[in-house]
Amino acid sequence: MNCLFCQIINKEIPADIIYEDDKFVVFKDIKPKAPIHLLIMPKKHILSVQHLELEDKELIGELFLLAKKIAKERGVAERGYKLVFNVGRGGGQIIDHIHLHLIAGWKTAQERDIPGMP
Ligand code: AMP
Ligand code: ZN
Repeated sequence: MNCLFCQIINKEIPADIIYEDDKFVVFKDIKPKAPIHLLIMPKKHILSVQHLELEDKELIGELFLLAKKIAKERGVAERGYKLVFNVGRGGGQIIDHIHLHLIAGWKTAQERDIPGMP
């Protein structure tokens, strides 16, 4: 399949994978917009939030629980972090494989105001 993230999931392209199980993979964003910038995604090739079906509801729920666990492990749960889904080109999505951005680790609120990010 011609999907960059599926290729990473299938180990055809290298990435800095920090977590993996049978359903999910988490790796570092190649162009981090904050000291911590991780991409959390299901291995299932779903195009975007807009393409979620009822059958995906458990999977997407588990994705959020995984985000919470990763945030704790990375030491940012207390301080706080952003979770962002870009949806479609107008929403800034460039890779059509659903992924949740976990962004954190700023030292100051000023540093947190990233141009182009909510
Ligand atoms: P989005 O704009 O929501 O589709 O986010 C795609 C993200 O994937 C961007 O933040 C990119 O920096 C990141 N990205 C693109 N290629 C790679 C790659 N090979 N490995 C890790 N992250 C990537
Ligand atoms: Zn894919």
